[in-house]
Amino acid sequence: MSQDLTLEQIQNFEGKYPKQIWYLFLTEMWERFCFYGLRGMLTVFMVTQLMIDEKSANLKYGAIQAFIYAFTFIGGLFADKILGFRKSLFWGGILMIIGSFIIAASPKEFFYIGTCFTIVGTGFFKPNISTMVGELYHPGDTRRDAGFGLFYSGINIGALLGGIVCVAVGKFYSWSLAFGFAGIVMAIGLLTFIFTQKSLGPIGLSPMKDAAPGRRKTFEIATFVGSIAVMPLLLLMVQNTRYTDYFMYIIGPATLVYLLYEMTTLNAEERKKMVAALVFIIFSIFFWAFFEQSGGSLSLFALYNLHDTMLGVFHIDPNVVNNSFNSVFVIIFSPIVGLLWLALSKRKKEPNSVIKFGLGFLFLAGAFYTFFATRFFADADGKTSLNVFTLAYLIITFGELCLSPIGLSLMTKLAPKKLWGVMMGMWFLASAYGQYVAGLLGAGMAVAKENASATEKLMSYTSGYKQLGIYALIAGIILIVISPIIRKMMGNVK
Ligand code: GLN
Repeated sequence: MSQDLTLEQIQNFEGKYPKQIWYLFLTEMWERFCFYGLRGMLTVFMVTQLMIDEKSANLKYGAIQAFIYAFTFIGGLFADKILGFRKSLFWGGILMIIGSFIIAASPKEFFYIGTCFTIVGTGFFKPNISTMVGELYHPGDTRRDAGFGLFYSGINIGALLGGIVCVAVGKFYSWSLAFGFAGIVMAIGLLTFIFTQKSLGPIGLSPMKDAAPGRRKTFEIATFVGSIAVMPLLLLMVQNTRYTDYFMYIIGPATLVYLLYEMTTLNAEERKKMVAALVFIIFSIFFWAFFEQSGGSLSLFALYNLHDTMLGVFHIDPNVVNNSFNSVFVIIFSPIVGLLWLALSKRKKEPNSVIKFGLGFLFLAGAFYTFFATRFFADADGKTSLNVFTLAYLIITFGELCLSPIGLSLMTKLAPKKLWGVMMGMWFLASAYGQYVAGLLGAGMAVAKENASATEKLMSYTSGYKQLGIYALIAGIILIVISPIIRKMMGNVK
């Protein structure tokens, strides 16, 4: 592996973005294509092909997503201590490809086995590519947020294409082909990384690179073997959502204890920053729990309760809208929001990160009130307006832009470097809890009885959305009120 470039040379780049960010952008774009393709197919595939009832499908969706994001903590930890970011990414990518092809071979039969590979694979891939973006910048470089904004656009281009192509191919053509396609695209992502990693210089190399080669190999092989050995257990847990509950009860507290132990090795200033990071992480759990209704209950809402006409002119499948319009809006508005922050900062009026998080929740509240309001546009068959539904997605996107890319950037600003992988994993672990709660919330909103009418489903889901709107509003207000305290803990980080 060549190390022609030094870290200094990479970080002293001129212009707005380092060139390496484009390679990471492309790699992550293809990975997210695969991930969001699979995610978009989950509930629809379970309900229409595996004949699982809606309540269980919501729970299983939450469980699978929760495991995916929970493994990012484990992936981050092993990257920090043993593999380094690059090898983690490589291993994660391979597992994701295998997982997609296993499902493609016989979707109904191998769905759960393939899903386990995807869970572990994403764990090794996802946090570590985000951390590498952070490494491209000097600690005080003010261009970092813009870099994460750009990276976030890449995420969403992939999510958009994956959400459209995989779901459409699966729903209207062949599920096998759809899952296989996700695998092929993941392979493109991995190849992109392999051919461009040389430009990363020393970034992402193994933390054990100076250890005796034999020792390093042993640890690496143990990590690879361990990550496969865990799969039968994972298979059991994914199939039985009761076990997911146990897993979720254990993993969060265990990671907190581990983090507290790591914090004892830090100085007071670093510790305060870590506490601030934890506050952001905890609030993000609530954000994702609501936001991630998109892959669960909103996916089913789109399946049964929406017309397929947009703006009175063209026809479009509501599930395609559900899986892709959020991404379209992120791609359009991410640069605009970035420019807005820049303009405000020039006038010294840019809100700090805590306020931005608070705003994220206020938008979230607005979006869920709008999802609730779809019930006022319903016809006698329980079908309602795709336009109002899409408007809600526009509003939720502004919430996401106030919170998600900023959260990624914050993790690399607030944590000391030796804990970057773990902290990024922790950020995504919050998403795991969010996903898990999302499944529970979705199941709670689903009508319990079989053969419920579309109108009953509509009423049930929209009542739930109103509740979520109220909770999001409360969370936003709390964040804005406590912002001065958190801001103080963050020291020189804004
Ligand atoms: N949409 C973003 C991504 O896929 C954020 C996901 C999350 O943190 N829950 O990376």
